[in-house]
Amino acid sequence: MANIYKRAFLKHKIVSLADANLSVASAAVLYGLSVYTVFPVSKTSKGLVAFRLRDHYQRLVNSARIIGLDTFEPAWSFEKFTKVVKELVAANKPTKDVFVRATVHVDELVPGTRSRGLSTSLSMFVYEAKPILPQDGARLKTSVWRRIPDYAIPSRAKVNGAYVNSVLARQDAIDCGYDDCIFLDGHGHVCELSAANIFIVRDGVLITPDTMSDLLEGINRKTVLELAHDLKIPVVERGVDLTELYIADEVFACGTSAYIASVKEVDARIIGTGSIGPITQRIRDRHAKLLRGSDPTFANLITYL
Ligand code: PMP
Repeated sequence: MANIYKRAFLKHKIVSLADANLSVASAAVLYGLSVYTVFPVSKTSKGLVAFRLRDHYQRLVNSARIIGLDTFEPAWSFEKFTKVVKELVAANKPTKDVFVRATVHVDELVPGTRSRGLSTSLSMFVYEAKPILPQDGARLKTSVWRRIPDYAIPSRAKVNGAYVNSVLARQDAIDCGYDDCIFLDGHGHVCELSAANIFIVRDGVLITPDTMSDLLEGINRKTVLELAHDLKIPVVERGVDLTELYIADEVFACGTSAYIASVKEVDARIIGTGSIGPITQRIRDRHAKLLRGSDPTFANLITYL
């Protein structure tokens, strides 16, 4: 289980984690009607820094908009959100890198299956940052479960209830002895992992499924694309066939909790040399600096807490 810090935020105040609870009759519990994001806070020589906080806040707002949770946005602002992050992190005094999970819950009791005009509350808690994938040589299995399409539960909204889809697919992969799944979309194209986006390298070109592939528009996916431009690595966003993974020179996954994880095996086939490839290594090295605000080109992506 994750190591969770003792102070949490719920309904406009910092409380002990044990008291940060929602009713069993809330729509959040009944239908998984909540949207969330997770962002990293790193301990650096210049203090604690959050990575791409504005993007995380905006994705939370966008997720709420897509689902039709219309009481969150008018009640909050990025400035107010940042103030809570600062206060909560300070209250927990983390001694290591942490993740902060911020969730907008529909806390209205038994509202029936609808979304508009319902009461919402923001929660946040802090937990120890640990990668969800082996960083060197993750092993992936194509899932028998397909990614929920945009026309069913939109993947670009980070909706709690939709994570049943990820749980099914990742558990199947674990049961088969792998670290994580590869989701295909409804057309059989490569989509993402259970909680990370995917990139492949073929002949020096970085390729990732485009945003029409029913994936979550990951903030680290966007970061990798920006990094690739800066590193002058050619990059293409397009549909990706499963068999392209098998013959790729490099495959890696990226995400807040995946960091940049090199993939060594997909469906019992070894990828490239079986070791981390040169482009993955370059991206990983720069990404690690970005997270801590020690890369001058991308220093604006950091919020000092
Ligand atoms: N896809 C899914 C389904 C995820 O849950 C995550 C983790 N948030 C990602 C991709 C990666 O997104 P991010 O880079 O914003 O963490």
